[in-house]
Amino acid sequence: METIVIIGAGASGLACMNELLKENKYNIIILEQAKKAARKVLASGNGRCNVSNLNMDIMYYNHQDSFIEKLIKEFDVIDFFKQLSLKLRFEKNLVYPYSLSSLSVKNALMKNIDQVSYIDECEVLSIKNNKSYEIITTNGHYQADKIVIATGSPASHLSGQNNLKMLEKMNVSLIPFTPSLVQVKTKPVFKALKGQRVKGIVTLYDQNQLIEKQTGEIMFTDYGLSGICVMQLSRYLKRLKNPKLVLNLLPDIEKEELQHYGLEGFFHEKIVHVFKEKNIDPQHIEIKIVDTMPIEKAQVCHGGVSLKEVDENLQLKKYSGIYVCGEALDVDGDCGGYNLHFAFASGVHVAKSIKK
Ligand SMILES: Cc1cc2nc3c(=O)[nH]c(=O)nc-3n(C[C@H](O)[C@H](O)[C@H](O)COP(=O)(O)OP(=O)(O)OC[C@H]3O[C@@H](n4cnc5c(N)ncnc54)[C@H](O)[C@@H]3O)c2cc1C
Repeated sequence: METIVIIGAGASGLACMNELLKENKYNIIILEQAKKAARKVLASGNGRCNVSNLNMDIMYYNHQDSFIEKLIKEFDVIDFFKQLSLKLRFEKNLVYPYSLSSLSVKNALMKNIDQVSYIDECEVLSIKNNKSYEIITTNGHYQADKIVIATGSPASHLSGQNNLKMLEKMNVSLIPFTPSLVQVKTKPVFKALKGQRVKGIVTLYDQNQLIEKQTGEIMFTDYGLSGICVMQLSRYLKRLKNPKLVLNLLPDIEKEELQHYGLEGFFHEKIVHVFKEKNIDPQHIEIKIVDTMPIEKAQVCHGGVSLKEVDENLQLKKYSGIYVCGEALDVDGDCGGYNLHFAFASGVHVAKSIKK
C-alpha cells in the first residue's frame, strides 16, 4: 500500500484527503503543525465561511494561466460538499454553508479523519529524498511514497509561519510571501473616525493612472483604511510605485442634493465634524497609501511555490511524487470565496493526479 503524507490539515489538505479516501488503497498520514485543524476555515468569512463564488473566472486570480483556469472552472463545489453531506446556500454569487457557520464546513471536511493517521502539533521541517521520501518533523521522522504540501501561507498567522520551510533547501523557486487582501496604512489618517463604516466608490491610482475601482464598505481605522473594497484593492499594491485612493462616499448624490441636505443629512455626526473641520468634500477624498498592514493582518498572501515549478498534476517538476496545493502555491484570488474555491479545487486535483 502506498503511503501518502499530506502536510497541513487545512482546506486544501482535507479536500485532498477526502478525494483520496474514495479509493481504499492508500495509507494516508496527515501531519499538522497546530493543535487544531482548519483554523483558517473557521475564521473565514467572519465565521460564515464563504466557500466559493458562482461567478468563477480566472480574472479574479493573480495568474491568467489556462491550466489554473481549467482547474477552477472544472471543480464543482456544490457536488464536493454534497458528497460530504453539507448543504450550501447562495447570497447573490457568494456561496456559503446552509448553516452560515464555518464550523459546519470544518466538520464536513473532517468527518472522515478517523480513516487516516492524523498527527497534530507536528511541524514539518524538511524533506530528504532517499529511495522514498523521509519527512523530518518536530515530532519524529516519517516515510512517504508521495507527499502533498498543503501548508497554506503565513497570512494571519493562523496557519503558522513556516509554511514552505521544508522546500527551502530543495532548490525549488519560492516567491516570497507578501500580504494581500489586507488593510492599508494611509496619509492622512482619520484617527477620530476609527471604527466608522461608510459605503462608496474607492478608486486606486498609481502616478495618476487609474488601476482599479471598487464599490462597497470602507472602514476608517487608527492607521488608515479597511473594509472589503479597500482590501480588494490591496491586491494591486505590490506592483505600484506611488499608490493613492480617491473616495467618493456619495456616488449617487447630485451636488445640489448635497447642498440641500448638508453633511448632516448623510453621515454620522463624528464624520460630519471631521469633514467640516478639515473642509473635506465627501465626493472626492484623496488619500495616499503609504504601506499595507503586515502579513499577520492579511487574509491571504501573494507568493508561494512558483507555478513554473509544477506540472499540470501540480507535481513538482524536480521531485516526482511531491505535490503542492492551496495557498502554498503562488495563486491568490479576490475576496468572495475565490481563495477557498482554489484550495478545495487544487486539493481534489492533486488527489485525482495521485490516483491516476
Ligand atoms: C480571517 C480570514 C478570513 C478569510 N475568509 C475567506 C472567505 O470567506 N472565503 C475565502 O475564499 N477565503 C477566505 N480566507 C482565505 C482562506 O481561508 C485560505 O485561502 C484557505 O484556507 C487556504 O487553504 P490552504 O489549505 O491552502 O491553507 P490553510 O487552510 O491555511 O491550511 C494549511 C495548514 O497547514 C498547516 N501547516 C503550515 N505549515 C506547516 C508545517 N510546516 N508543518 C505542518 N503543518 C503545517 C497549518 O497549520 C494549516 O492547518 C480567509 C482567510 C482569513 C485569514
